[in-house]
Amino acid sequence: MAPPAGGRPAPAARFSATTPATRKFATAAEALHTVFGYDTFRGDQAEIIAQVVDGKDAVVLMPTGGGKSLCYQIPSLVREGTGIVVSPLIALMQDQVDALTAVGVRAAFLNSSQDSASRGQVERDYLAGNLDLLYVAPERLSSEATKRFLDQGTIALFAIDEAHCVSQWGHDFRPDYLALSELADRWPDVPRIALTATATDATHQEITSRLQMGDAKHFVASFDRPNIQYRIVGKSEVRKQLLSFIKTEHPDDAGIVYGLSRKTVDQTAEFLRQNGINALPYHAGLDAGLRARTQSTFLRDEGVVIVATIAFGMGIDKPDVRFVAHIDLPKSVEGYYQETGRAGRDGAPANAWLAYGLADVVQQRRMIDESPGDMSHRRKLSAHLDAMLALCETVHCRRVNLLRYFGQTSEPCGNCDTCLQPPEAWDGTVPAQKLLSTIVRLLRERNQKFGAGHLIDILRGKETPRATQHRHTELKTWGIGADLSDQQWRGVVRQLLAQGYLATSGEYGTLILTDTASEVLAGSRQVQLRTEPDRPVRSAGARTSSKKAAAADLSPEQATLFESLRVWRSAQSKEQGVPAYIVFGDATLLAVAAAKPTSIGDLDGITGIGAKKLEAYGEALLEVVAAGPGA
Ligand code: ADP
Ligand code: ZN
Repeated sequence: MAPPAGGRPAPAARFSATTPATRKFATAAEALHTVFGYDTFRGDQAEIIAQVVDGKDAVVLMPTGGGKSLCYQIPSLVREGTGIVVSPLIALMQDQVDALTAVGVRAAFLNSSQDSASRGQVERDYLAGNLDLLYVAPERLSSEATKRFLDQGTIALFAIDEAHCVSQWGHDFRPDYLALSELADRWPDVPRIALTATATDATHQEITSRLQMGDAKHFVASFDRPNIQYRIVGKSEVRKQLLSFIKTEHPDDAGIVYGLSRKTVDQTAEFLRQNGINALPYHAGLDAGLRARTQSTFLRDEGVVIVATIAFGMGIDKPDVRFVAHIDLPKSVEGYYQETGRAGRDGAPANAWLAYGLADVVQQRRMIDESPGDMSHRRKLSAHLDAMLALCETVHCRRVNLLRYFGQTSEPCGNCDTCLQPPEAWDGTVPAQKLLSTIVRLLRERNQKFGAGHLIDILRGKETPRATQHRHTELKTWGIGADLSDQQWRGVVRQLLAQGYLATSGEYGTLILTDTASEVLAGSRQVQLRTEPDRPVRSAGARTSSKKAAAADLSPEQATLFESLRVWRSAQSKEQGVPAYIVFGDATLLAVAAAKPTSIGDLDGITGIGAKKLEAYGEALLEVVAAGPGA
């Protein structure tokens, strides 16, 4: 490729001219620009990288999409030797390596999915000093053979990705991570960097102590994800609600729907498919091959919706997931935050949508009661659930509540349902007393316990066969709650459960009073409830599909050019068998469409175009641009 007249020589030449042994960069900034094609570091990246390049340890807490990968990739390109990356996500190592290879980084992985020939090649490359980055599964590192093997080469650093997996009480515990504490003893001079998107103080401390990172410098970023709009809606017919949410706001978008059980997941995926959504189920009950294909379809094709149990998603690097929907209540705020965080890694508007109802509270309380483990374990689960319920029932900003959970303060955000349409708080003391006294009477006078449905029937005076059979029409509280609708009563029961005035007992979710309930009955405690908005909140920004939203700032001509570039990218990604974002991200294609470059020199400096990609795709991009929009 000849350098264009007047342009500087293609930087790719400089890159490939260096010999393997010296193919390191003098500065982090040079690596950032030449390899990744970015101008500036984000947030704490520069400082974190300097710390590791300097040979010192770092603990990094940064939200998903914050840019953690560069924090260990760039030091591995500056320091002598190979950066060893511990990652629990075997299924994603191939994509991680592909993305690095695409920008000219010498990367490989060692895991159980490999045949011995390719493993042998990777091992030889490592020993010859031909690798900048080597991804390994945690269980490999606990074997003495692997350690001895690593000792024969030069280790630039250890990066411990998804470091929260070391936390035993966390939601992603991996026993193999515990063995990583040995790294400090075995290689005291090799810098270590632990990274996670989990933000609680408890997890942070556990990572620090279990990985022996006492001397590390700690970097805690803001956990706010301003481009994600949080919405929590009352559940009525959840599949229809979900369908309408997807159809009106995300018709062509990639998204993830989380449900708790395999059955829910299968049925919901089927329902969405029948209604014209390209949805696929994903859960641990499906065979590994099918799961791998589903994940790959999600990464490679556009607009696929995955309906999954929580088994899906950790480490999924797909940048353009436009929505995450929960059709069952998540078990903890941490889990909710992790799962919703998979939306909008690219910084463009995204939605976190959760439907939640009375049955969720009843079911989760019961699951906790029945869960194996000691009392303290159950108390912990209960505390997790209570925090999640507080988030659901808050009349204040969801984001403020969410960030407070992670010990961070913020102002009301203007981009969550409660900010956009503030719910009103109302004094629910009287309805609460009516319900609580009905429960007390049934127990005292009849020695009976019931679930929410029948209690509401009694309060509303609905003459069902059960009411007649038990002569509940004779109860003093019969029909005293006719002023509220069935739906409103369900809201009252749900909130009383969430606020801890009611508890459930037994397999049928019968309702019983807690100690604080007696204060309500005695009139010494007021109950504040929230009104449910009758119109669902819908965001202006997220109403269009991502494609349209991304192109919103372009002129019609630029938008058509952007379309042509996407078509070209899609062909490239198919040809190479890699996800589209590994070719180029949307941000890069948008910048190209806006800049309309006519020479290789024009392309240099566009975000996401480093030396290797300039060499690989520069001419092709110019051809697409020259052919004109719509060609
Ligand atoms: P995380 O691992 O923290 O979830 P990633 O490392 O995947 O985040 O980065 C998220 C996105 O931001 C990626 O597309 C990445 O290329 C991009 N990115 C990271 N750092 C920068 C930077 N300094 N300038 C521009 N883009 C960046
Ligand atoms: Zn808000």
